Amino acid sequence: MTQPAPDLDYQAEMLAAKTKHYLITTMGRISTEANNDEFYRAFSYALREEIMINWLATARTQNLRNVRKLYYISLEYLPGRILSNGICNLSAQSIVERVLQKMNRSYKDIIGRESDPALGNGGLGRLASCFLDSLATQNLPAQAYGLRYQYGIFEQQLWEGVQVEAPDCWLLNENPWEFRRDLRKVVVKYCGDTESTTNIHGDEVQKLANYEEVFALPYDIPIIGYSKTRDFSVVTLRLWSTKESPRNFQLQRYNAGSVGQAAENTTLTDVLYPNDNHETGKRIRLKQEFLLVSASLQDIIRHYLTNHDSFRSFADKVRIQINDTHPSLVIAELVRILTFKHDIPWKMAVEMTQACTGYTNHTILSEALEEWDQSLFQYLLPRQYKIVERLNYDFCNALRSKFPNDEHKVQRVSILENGKVRMANLAIMGSHSVNGVAALHTEILKNSVFKDFYDFFPEKFVNVTNGVTQRRWLLGCNPELAKFITKRIGDGWITDFTQIAKLAEFASDVDSQEEFLSIKKKNKQKLIEYIKQENQLHTADGATVLMSPIIDAHSLFDIQIKRIHEYKRQLMNALHLIMLYQEILENPHHNRIKRTAIFAGKAAAGYETAKDIIRLIFCIARRVNKDPAVHNLLKIVYVENYNVSKAEFLIPAADISEQISTAGTEASGTGNMKLAINGALTVGTEDGANIEMRQEIGDQWWPFSFGCSAEEIQKMKSENSYHSRDIYEANPQIRKAVDALRDRSFAQNDDEHHAFSDLYHKLIEMHYGGAPDRYFTLKDLESYYNVQKKVETLFMEPLKWAEYALHNIAGMSKFSIDYSIKNYCEKIWGLAPCPLDSEILDQVRDEFSQQDRCRIY
Ligand SMILES: *Cc1c(COP(=O)(O)O)cnc(C)c1O
Repeated sequence: MTQPAPDLDYQAEMLAAKTKHYLITTMGRISTEANNDEFYRAFSYALREEIMINWLATARTQNLRNVRKLYYISLEYLPGRILSNGICNLSAQSIVERVLQKMNRSYKDIIGRESDPALGNGGLGRLASCFLDSLATQNLPAQAYGLRYQYGIFEQQLWEGVQVEAPDCWLLNENPWEFRRDLRKVVVKYCGDTESTTNIHGDEVQKLANYEEVFALPYDIPIIGYSKTRDFSVVTLRLWSTKESPRNFQLQRYNAGSVGQAAENTTLTDVLYPNDNHETGKRIRLKQEFLLVSASLQDIIRHYLTNHDSFRSFADKVRIQINDTHPSLVIAELVRILTFKHDIPWKMAVEMTQACTGYTNHTILSEALEEWDQSLFQYLLPRQYKIVERLNYDFCNALRSKFPNDEHKVQRVSILENGKVRMANLAIMGSHSVNGVAALHTEILKNSVFKDFYDFFPEKFVNVTNGVTQRRWLLGCNPELAKFITKRIGDGWITDFTQIAKLAEFASDVDSQEEFLSIKKKNKQKLIEYIKQENQLHTADGATVLMSPIIDAHSLFDIQIKRIHEYKRQLMNALHLIMLYQEILENPHHNRIKRTAIFAGKAAAGYETAKDIIRLIFCIARRVNKDPAVHNLLKIVYVENYNVSKAEFLIPAADISEQISTAGTEASGTGNMKLAINGALTVGTEDGANIEMRQEIGDQWWPFSFGCSAEEIQKMKSENSYHSRDIYEANPQIRKAVDALRDRSFAQNDDEHHAFSDLYHKLIEMHYGGAPDRYFTLKDLESYYNVQKKVETLFMEPLKWAEYALHNIAGMSKFSIDYSIKNYCEKIWGLAPCPLDSEILDQVRDEFSQQDRCRIY
């Protein structure tokens, strides 16, 4: 039996003592003199002691039970702050507040000292982090691998609306949440000359000479599972770095005068490529992908062999999930290791690899599908290239025997084609499971993007709709609403989100409606305060200014926060705001609601159109916010540098969630889910998970659906029947808004004018020889405008609005990440929970307590 938890006062006292201890021993400061930064670190050290105990016990339990384990491999993660989430998942809020109060510190200031580990671009990385929260909370045996980018996604600044990228130095101070594991260092090999030989079964394998070696050193971050008791599990997020290995620096090249080349391998993990849903085929990126794959596989096999003396149960004990195609070299590399190093026959090695591996697809945008030049691939990874060739040869032959006389089909599924290596084809061929991330998305994969594969092995294709963790995205970021919910339905929803359905009983209860509205208003006020104090903008020359339009907490908070992408159609939102502005100018006494439109999101550094869209929004805001004729009916705010911490601030304050992608382009979306569980109503197209959200919440409570369906869009595309100019000419209101892009309504200089003229051009004229308005912005603008009128009408009846919002929250049970993970466990991994062994936990804790000077326990 686990020991009972000691009382709060005693715990608080000891935690304070430990913090002081760390301040002295690691920072050389006494507590009254330490700055918040030092205090944050010392406090984290103190708190993490408890976490280390469970971390150790988690690993020991899994080894003892010899369970099947999941290895999640992803090039991106967006964990958000570790300390605040740890406090939330340990239910340690009240004790921490007590400690900080005792020590004269403010909770907000201390938490705020931690920089976000911004190791991802957007949804894909955040999904990975929601996965880890759920894996830990559900006690599932799992470990995650990624790269420790020295500079995460850039810090976004807006200089008079122009996005400027500054380096994100998240590792400037020592990070109390990472542990360098020198013992687990591995060598990764690139380039070199291959020499054919055979393994004991006569399979051809390659030896390598004259290669380049790079040391990969792992840093471990603990991901803390939620638990009301002290038996929480901890999942390891292991991030590889090439920074700290002196031998990675190639002195010979340096001496030969080539500093850049000499440092290439020490800088491999320096930066995350800042592209969301876009691949550019850069050499260093391929090196990064192989670094992650090679180092992680070596680690997985090393760990497997500590418990086994043959590979007989490898395919039973090991599950590898690859997040998009970025780690799909796993397939070639695992086959190579098994055949070459461990003398497994080729056919068996391929079958084992397929049994272990699952591939999650995240996009159908063609510019995001990864392809590498065969010559680059062959040069950097000569052995893996040979493996891919053979895999492809076998695969194409198998296809030919099933579909004779269809050489076109063979060409379409071939991994090697047109001088390219097609990573999705490799991933599908080499996995036992291929999943899309929402029902519509998976259908599109099966029926169009990967149809040829689906014809060949339909059984591989499954759907697992994405989800979000209600711990960070409701309990953690919106404590007032969490309390409101718990007061009504108990706190079971924190780990069992199906219970959230019970909230529907309170949707028509006036007291609940009023309380909901008052919580929403408080969250809006907090956001207003934050924008006033923290949202620094920059003038054209980079000087910081505090731009704070006066925002009314009674206004409708209409929020679109996500990466800036043409397919996500921030431009449609901007055009609608121009229409509203023009409408107000024409008829200022029109009885209307107040609206505050809030945007946040980064554009990829090289994505000019996305940057033009940001600039447009900024310039509309500049004009509208200052125009007295608007009578404060409309305010527009751009929040700089969107990241997880900003999201935690913005989401609880939203009335409207903008999910307006062109139908058929957004694989799932997860921002849509975070906003809905916080009581925002969705203005959304029938795209991604919006469709399933509507089904779950029910049409009756999903009033703001609009726009063309994916089928209609597809039809217009294939028939070439959409002409944006027709709409422009037919609808005077739309025409007037679009014309504002080129008549200098919002541009104050030529630069701005050119940027907006480009946007005009893309909407109305030709688009690089293709059709204009590729994302059907004008096509849907009319219905978007109409649905926004419905928004205004409903917003004038607050209690009714609250009823809708409560029904929306109550309908979201399926969009908890816990439900997604349960589906992965059942449909893909065959993975079962492995809760901490209480004896092991007690053992570790006893050993700790006996040595612990402060004696918390
Ligand atoms: C949730 C989240 C995303 C994904 O948002 P979508 O609207 O699904 O694109 C991107 N970035 C951050 C920081 C997030 O928290």
